[in-house]
Amino acid sequence: MSEASASRLPIHSSPINVTFLGTASAMPSSTRNHSALAVRLGSDVWLFDCGEATQHQVQKSNVKMGKIEKVFITHTHGDHIFGLIPLLAGCLNGAGGTADGIEDPRKEVNVNDPPFEIYGPLGTRAYVRSALTYTHTMLSRPYVVHELRFPSDPQNGDHTNLWRLRSESPTGRNIPQVDGVWSDVYKDNILSVSAAPIYHSVPCIGYTITESVVPGKIDPKKYIPDIKRTNTPMNVMRLLQAGESVRLSDGTVLQGPKPRNGRKIVILGDTYDPSPMIPIAQDADLLIHEATNAHLPGIVPNTRDDDTFESIQRTAMERGHSTPQMAGAFAKRIGAASLILNHFSARYPGNDNVDPEAKIIMDAIGNLAAIEYGKPVACARDLMSIDIGFRAIE
Ligand SMILES: [Zn+2]
Ligand SMILES: [Zn+2]
Repeated sequence: MSEASASRLPIHSSPINVTFLGTASAMPSSTRNHSALAVRLGSDVWLFDCGEATQHQVQKSNVKMGKIEKVFITHTHGDHIFGLIPLLAGCLNGAGGTADGIEDPRKEVNVNDPPFEIYGPLGTRAYVRSALTYTHTMLSRPYVVHELRFPSDPQNGDHTNLWRLRSESPTGRNIPQVDGVWSDVYKDNILSVSAAPIYHSVPCIGYTITESVVPGKIDPKKYIPDIKRTNTPMNVMRLLQAGESVRLSDGTVLQGPKPRNGRKIVILGDTYDPSPMIPIAQDADLLIHEATNAHLPGIVPNTRDDDTFESIQRTAMERGHSTPQMAGAFAKRIGAASLILNHFSARYPGNDNVDPEAKIIMDAIGNLAAIEYGKPVACARDLMSIDIGFRAIE
């Protein structure tokens, strides 16, 4: 368990928050930045993807730069990774330098300190190392890159001839896929992250964050009369809180509340088919799925006469992407409790909270997904922030 996770606030009792930092596909627009989203888990923040200018978006959001502990990269297309180096420099005091003859204190970086963690496919480590090397960027805290290697990748090595930098921890793992998934690439006593490949135009990864079982909510009034009557020490409440049963001196058996499943969030990168995620994505509380292209005749003005749902889907898939209907169908297939779409073409505005025309377009995209999903679907906009609570107990 890392030091950061040991000091995490108890997240079982707090919401998990998701903040969309960027929701554009290939081209950013005036209302949508490149891909990135922040997940707040207690006091930690984890980023998923880090497109260009993510650092700027963090500054505009309610996410605190200093709390970012990990970044998970879905794939190395620029719109998902170009912001990683500036973010690293920002989080790890990597800006500036010293003139000849002046010692830079960052040369003393202690690689035994807990590193800032980056997860991603093959090439992530080489990309970070190259960019830091050639921009002469020194970091005051160590970082580490763990790579999720596909079966067709080299399973060992760093994929670069550049020397490891002083700030790069040597503990970076090359994690092999086993039975089609990368299980528990990160795990502490409350949270785990697993991953699976998803189909795109380049190697791409979907991630699942799973919270461990959560203790049930205890109602002390239910137990105290029996505990007092039998002069049982009050510390049995601890056992009951853990869901255990306790036999009192007069034979009465008290049963603690049933624990409930923790929350599960599935975050996909770009994809035209995320079905390899199914084993690790079932019953997600939230699925975040891309919906790059949609067919909206009569709603989006520059729709071509010969466009059809089928032709738009075909074009989207040929480029490695999905339509809202595809996202809705996948959400239904995994039994997701909620679905949010992201990664929109520059044609689709991101200011639907203030512009009625934009709202008509984005509502229409959500409705296309909802037809397949069977429930309302939200479209993400930049800096949108949502809390994920517990599902009501059935
Ligand atoms: Zn993309
Ligand atoms: Zn891509």
